[in-house]
Amino acid sequence: MSKYVFPKKSLDAFSCPHCGAYAQQMWNPWTDSARLGPLSGDAAEISVSQCMYCSNIGIWINDRMCYPDTGCGLVPAAGMPGEVLSLYHEAAAVAGKSPRSAAALLRLAVQHLCRDLGAVGYTMDEDIQHLVIRGLPEKIERLFSKVKVTGNGAVFPGQIADDDRETVEILFSLVNLMVEYMIHGPGEVDRIYRQLR
Ligand SMILES: [Zn+2]
Repeated sequence: MSKYVFPKKSLDAFSCPHCGAYAQQMWNPWTDSARLGPLSGDAAEISVSQCMYCSNIGIWINDRMCYPDTGCGLVPAAGMPGEVLSLYHEAAAVAGKSPRSAAALLRLAVQHLCRDLGAVGYTMDEDIQHLVIRGLPEKIERLFSKVKVTGNGAVFPGQIADDDRETVEILFSLVNLMVEYMIHGPGEVDRIYRQLR
């Protein structure tokens, strides 16, 4: 699996939201005192990052990437089912502006993914447990309670809670890891096996 590093202001390299590659970024400050009008208050610093792999750019106002408006650099894992993918894209579109909305959408995506994978428990704890029995690593299982998908402090999928950007980043990674381990990985093994016969 490729290395995921979320785009952040002044990092020398991160996962490009255009091409998905973990790539060097060239930073060009455009202006450090642009006036954006009454809505944004004080003068802002505007800069441009350019991916050294695909040459496409990101436009930043202060420390927020405004273009492309994906909210994060995570390209969805191959094989993600349609409805989960649509929730994933919706979460990515709002993650920069509203981490709480993105987290709510991603917990819903985890629930949909569990159902797609045949888990039909009464709680998310039971659903994730079902996936562990089928091969999801226990280390990943433990991460779900840290981001309140499972455990005592669990938040109902789709419900708005007090989530920060770090939680959102972990949730994006968890959805991708679930797809990698439970869908894409086994599919690849089958494909290579067929080639060898
Ligand atoms: Zn790129």
